[in-house]
Amino acid sequence: MSATLELLAPFDGPSVPLSRAPDPVFAGLMMGDGLAIEPMSGTLLAPCDGVVAQLARTGHALTLRAANGAEVLIHIGIDTVKLEGEGFKPLIKAGDSVSQGQPLIEVDLDAVARRAPSLLTMVVIANGEAYALKSRAEGWQQAGQSVFLTLSGGAAVDDLPRASGAESRGQATVRHAGGLHARPAALVQNAARQYRSSVQVEFNGQAANARSVVALMGLGVAEDDDVAVLAQGEDAAAAAAAVIAALQTRTDSGHGAPAPLASVSARSLPAGWIGGVCAAPGLAIGQVVRLDAFEPQVAEFAVNADSERDQLNHALTEVSAGIAAAIDDALRRGQTSQSDIFSAHLALVDDPELRGAAERDIAAGHSAGHAFRQAVRAQCRVLSSLGSPLLAERVADLKDIERQVLKALLGDAQSEPELYPASILVAEDLAPSELTRLPRDRVAGILSAAGGATGHVAILARALGIPALVACGPQVLRLDAGSEVLLDASQGGCDPAPSAAALASARQTMAERERRRADMRADADGAAVTLDGVRVEVAANIANEEDAREAVRHGADSVGLLRTEFLFIDRRDAPDRYEQANAYQAVLDELQGRVAIIRTLDVGGDKEVPYLTLPPEPNPALGLRGIRTGFAHPEMLDEQLRALLMLRPLSLLRILVPMIADVGELRLLRRRIDSLAEEMGLSERPQLGVMVEVPSAALLADQLAAEADFLSIGTNDLTQYTLAMDRCNASLAASLDAMHPALLRLIERTVAGASLHGKWVGVCGALASDPLATPVLIGLGVAELSVSPGLVPEIKARVRALDQQACLKRVEQLLRLDSAAEVRAQAAEWWPEA
Ligand code: PEP
Ligand code: MG
Repeated sequence: MSATLELLAPFDGPSVPLSRAPDPVFAGLMMGDGLAIEPMSGTLLAPCDGVVAQLARTGHALTLRAANGAEVLIHIGIDTVKLEGEGFKPLIKAGDSVSQGQPLIEVDLDAVARRAPSLLTMVVIANGEAYALKSRAEGWQQAGQSVFLTLSGGAAVDDLPRASGAESRGQATVRHAGGLHARPAALVQNAARQYRSSVQVEFNGQAANARSVVALMGLGVAEDDDVAVLAQGEDAAAAAAAVIAALQTRTDSGHGAPAPLASVSARSLPAGWIGGVCAAPGLAIGQVVRLDAFEPQVAEFAVNADSERDQLNHALTEVSAGIAAAIDDALRRGQTSQSDIFSAHLALVDDPELRGAAERDIAAGHSAGHAFRQAVRAQCRVLSSLGSPLLAERVADLKDIERQVLKALLGDAQSEPELYPASILVAEDLAPSELTRLPRDRVAGILSAAGGATGHVAILARALGIPALVACGPQVLRLDAGSEVLLDASQGGCDPAPSAAALASARQTMAERERRRADMRADADGAAVTLDGVRVEVAANIANEEDAREAVRHGADSVGLLRTEFLFIDRRDAPDRYEQANAYQAVLDELQGRVAIIRTLDVGGDKEVPYLTLPPEPNPALGLRGIRTGFAHPEMLDEQLRALLMLRPLSLLRILVPMIADVGELRLLRRRIDSLAEEMGLSERPQLGVMVEVPSAALLADQLAAEADFLSIGTNDLTQYTLAMDRCNASLAASLDAMHPALLRLIERTVAGASLHGKWVGVCGALASDPLATPVLIGLGVAELSVSPGLVPEIKARVRALDQQACLKRVEQLLRLDSAAEVRAQAAEWWPEA
């Protein structure tokens, strides 16, 4: 039975809706629903009886667990964690039982107000799924007297009385790059689903149900467009605020930076070739499989509408379960780009508008398959007519869903095209699931009439290493099924009728490349030693145990960077030391005696974890991220350090710290490690390295190297911070080149600083995986290159063909060049790639 719990005001002062908190984490209800108060009295009183489940070390926040299980989180002020406890005097400790009205924390309001952006105090129900807020106070509150919030506890939300019809309106400016396309629409849908109120998004005289991804996309909202939001129901204000926050969240339009592909169709191609945009490079010969012309047959009419509806529901459930499993699998493998794509698909399968349209068609006497196909096609027409390339690309996603649902309805036999041993898939626009579903060894290449380099299929093709040409135009759809074509995606073209000589020459090139790759793979286990006898450690960048196996298989000498973020993202709370230690130990075990450099958590900025109360960041890349986040959440950092210290043997572990700006941070961390190791009774310490990712660290490398065991350069961030170019900004991607002379000088300076103290320097940023950069980095004195596992054989082969002394001399000249382009051109001339 549901009991009602009344929470009394924790301070004197006016209540403020949570949506007005100057922090998107609270305003967006990410921490839970509740109410805020502007404190006018200096003592925080317990709003209810309960146990102190958690008290922040810095005394600015606590959680009370009430008798009905509700977790009442109270957070005093915004950004107050940074005050490190100054201005807060807790009167209780974690584990204490407290009674309603009891003083909990004394707050020096003046002192806090001077140093924090706001004193606003948020009271939220952190485990709100099973509770419903029945009332929120308005106006002036008296601490310990006024009823501030009422919640009915323990009742399933759906059992609670229905919405009272309150209305809340607001405006939002859509900040998602590229407008409301599939993933942003899925974010908005997800926000709307957390509330019982109905929410509409209105644009250009049209309204869309915020719980429907297709309806939202159908509005054709572009980036920076203003939309209206109307919520109706008992939690209307909160629902509107959450949807507005989701609309206004800034996200990127693609999944990571597009590959540096120069070959847009403008390049001149031989006569008769079909030109397109290179979405994934490579050369392929194969027979055309016309996916565009393949349509499973579905009956148009059916006699029993109930049975058709059941079949549709069953098919939708089956497809949802399949996609959810694909998301889990992608997340486990750390492939967030794939999981993002599948999440957007899941939202489409669940879409109430699509389902509604199909059900209406079934009721009119049509079969489930026909009805669903009609519903999808109608939506595709809307998206194609909106004139937005990004939304037009989402047509492929919808067709993919159609295909999957028809497959679930009809079974495999009727819904799969037949493949040749080497197939070139041809389609208007390819469905992403086609690539993951079709046998990889039979797919030689991809040609699509539509699509773009930012399309989902392009991302997947790159990940799978399948040469792909997109946006080839309708002529590609005139290719005869079964005909043999030559696809040179790197050149941005396809020869639809290759001569015997062209085929023979392409086969020879492919065979040579394959032979070289096989030779490299065969030699991969040996050491990478230059012609003049200098050994370069070629390590792998990995995220988990599976990658560790992959690294060993490809001959990596060690792991140069284990990004631990994969364990922390996409979950509701942080992993404890045992879970972490298990995951890290599994990696170490896979490495069979090789060293693993494990980086402490690098979140904040654009890498978010939902359970950390990170402050709003006007400039995320310059805010709380890397080790700064660790220092701001010492309990989480300590837990990770403990997990690392639990690994055996410790001699194979090296701890790497991200985003260190100066030696003070390094000392702090070393002290933490020492004291935790002492607590754990350890006499041995793992080596401790510093990531050089900000210019200050490169400039102070001598100071850092005096106290660190090694340095590892993160060129991705070092480039972003040196050139002042956001690494997530696709329009800057072409200029964001780590071969810039400024970067090379910083690398030189880092190596010089480290060598003063006999310490080695590695590179673990993406520059290390670029074969053109290998001689440059060796010439700069870098001792370790940590690269993508699959590239280990190639980079080792490259090292073996170089003379370090010669590289050294030439690099001096590169440092004097004007631009990254000049460095690349000169390096390509001196050290051509085979
Ligand atoms: C880097 O910045 O180069 C790096 C390796 O770290 P990440 O890419 O994880 O930020
Ligand atoms: Mg980095």
